[in-house]
Amino acid sequence: MVAYRGLVPLPAGHPADALRIWVGESKHFLVYPVRAGQLLNYVGFVPSDSSVRESWSERGDPAALAAHFAGWDPVIGQVIAAISGPGGTGFQWGMYDRAPLSRWSDGRLTLLGDAAHPMLPHLGQGVNQALEDAVALATLLRACASSADVPGALAAYERLRRDRTARVQRGSRRQGAGYDSSGSQLEDRRWIYEYDAWAEAVALT
Ligand SMILES: Cc1cc2nc3c(=O)[nH]c(=O)nc-3n(C[C@H](O)[C@H](O)[C@H](O)COP(=O)(O)OP(=O)(O)OC[C@H]3O[C@@H](n4cnc5c(N)ncnc54)[C@H](O)[C@@H]3O)c2cc1C
Repeated sequence: MVAYRGLVPLPAGHPADALRIWVGESKHFLVYPVRAGQLLNYVGFVPSDSSVRESWSERGDPAALAAHFAGWDPVIGQVIAAISGPGGTGFQWGMYDRAPLSRWSDGRLTLLGDAAHPMLPHLGQGVNQALEDAVALATLLRACASSADVPGALAAYERLRRDRTARVQRGSRRQGAGYDSSGSQLEDRRWIYEYDAWAEAVALT
């Protein structure tokens, strides 16, 4: 998957306080206002068969994004058209996912943030989990009486954080699969959608 992401000025008439998501097979588009409703953050998630350079500044082609969402709600077209206008920005990121690590500390060395638990962005939790790590780590290190206590504090930090961050990693993956209707959630729900009440009743007659 590739995420096209950027900011545009809040279009006239667009709600300044609402997150909106459009979902379709294998793609979804979402917008939410930022900077007190002056700007609209947009993200379009689409499938891709090529890799994307790992970078925070890889430009996304608005025409390619528009082609992915041709025929969708005109609001999406309006947002994409604004990318090339004044104040619009557009970047793209490859979406890469990793399973939770079984450990991330060794003696006096540990990790935090994405290095410890990279996750897909579908729960909007990457930075939040990194900040929680930082709070936990700082609190436990502060309680150390000497450097000899540090390995124990790092082990306690990892124990405290590992299950929670792993749960968020898995939840982000599930959320993305659900949005794009192409993953295990759809498989899990197939029994609901494929149920034919008429055929079931006819079978009893
Ligand atoms: C499209 C997208 C949408 C996202 N949306 C959200 C969201 O809505 N909410 C949210 O909470 N999170 C979101 N995230 C995730 C969030 O950006 C990351 O979780 C967060 O940036 C991780 O912070 P970090 O400090 O662990 O790592 P990074 O921000 O990756 O920082 C690591 C730094 O280390 C530097 N570095 C790497 N190697 C070296 C080296 N050898 N020497 C020196 N420096 C080095 C890198 O250049 C970088 O500056 C999103 C991410 C993406 C890609």
